[in-house]
Amino acid sequence: MKNYFKTSWYYLMILAIGVAFTACETENFSTESSQDNKDFTIEEAYPGETGKLHDIYLDGEESITVEKHGKDDFFVLEGDMLVYKDDSDPNRSVGRTGGRWPNATVYYEIQNGMPNQKRITDAIRHWESKTALRFVKRTNQGAYIFFQKGSGCSSFVGRTGRRQAINLADGCSTGSTIHEIGHAIGLYHEQSRKDRDNYINVLFQNIEAGKEHNFQTYVQRNRDGNEFTNSLDFGSIMMYSPRSFSKNGQPTITRKNGSSYSTQRSGLSNADVQGVNKMYPRNNPPPTSGKIINLKGNNGKYVSSENGNKPMNCNRGRVGGWERFTVVDAGGGKIALKGNNGKYVSSEGGNKPINCNRNRIGSLEKFELVSRGGNKYAIKDKNGRYMSSENGNKAMNWNRTRIGSWEEFIISGL
Ligand SMILES: [Zn+2]
Repeated sequence: MKNYFKTSWYYLMILAIGVAFTACETENFSTESSQDNKDFTIEEAYPGETGKLHDIYLDGEESITVEKHGKDDFFVLEGDMLVYKDDSDPNRSVGRTGGRWPNATVYYEIQNGMPNQKRITDAIRHWESKTALRFVKRTNQGAYIFFQKGSGCSSFVGRTGRRQAINLADGCSTGSTIHEIGHAIGLYHEQSRKDRDNYINVLFQNIEAGKEHNFQTYVQRNRDGNEFTNSLDFGSIMMYSPRSFSKNGQPTITRKNGSSYSTQRSGLSNADVQGVNKMYPRNNPPPTSGKIINLKGNNGKYVSSENGNKPMNCNRGRVGGWERFTVVDAGGGKIALKGNNGKYVSSEGGNKPINCNRNRIGSLEKFELVSRGGNKYAIKDKNGRYMSSENGNKAMNWNRTRIGSWEEFIISGL
């Protein structure tokens, strides 16, 4: 017993040291709000390093100051934003870039063996739940985000038109990943707004030498400063922390009245969502009543109504009458699907296999088409669950909380 106790105490100590070490490592990149008043660094491409300062021209306009590290062919702006010298932004929008993703569809790939991929899938899910943006695994697209292991947390800004990295060190949290995706879809940092001096003081005397350029406003960089929201949002996931790039532990940013504030990295703020909705409007495909469609699952088979006689299946090799559905405008951007038998498809609330046997359109018969790029869609019911093909192996269900390949359908005829 004694021996056992000693042994477990020994392992507990080792475990405690391990935990302390891990916690310490994590803190270098920690962005949790609980850490806010501690000395944590924000998202940075190269934590603890200052690259060589360069003045580069963006859009052929006046030069801006950026850092270059080693042999990188890109430059670092404001710590974690990566830019190419030849980047051009035709809209010259300042707080926000013009590099938008067409159809609000962002293609991505995750590096093989990337540690903790859950933070990436969780961050993507967060963006999809709050905005119209859809993230689709890349097949042959040339412009896509490549999530890879990096020295810090960093991202290019807006769609570059080619493979663009989001670099994530092991210490980059889900919140930091949400932040870096924010850059990739076109967001800059909140404290660089043209009107920021109405809301904050930047204390240059506390900023590390060589990092002052990170605190320029977009107007100081000769860009127009257009914004999609009316005021600076301290709760924005794109807001720097009060001690960003501090050389002495003192604040580098305070509120206008001199008091501190909290930054958060738990998710998009309401104002973040408002701004992104202007960049990527929520435009559900207009209901096109009367169109006759068919739905092909990921298994290459078609969804069948089974004429309402039994649960629906996605196992048909060709499109016959039972595989055709008429789209009916159900109001509010939603549609209903009418089978060849004149009955409507029901989600059954996700509780049982789905059926095409309803005489009228109630709340369980109204669906939202969620674009997945091209003519691929997921179909969401009133509970926010998605229809699944079950890969054709069994009766279809409407109980999925996320969109995987079985929840995507190629819809022809819309
Ligand atoms: Zn950033």
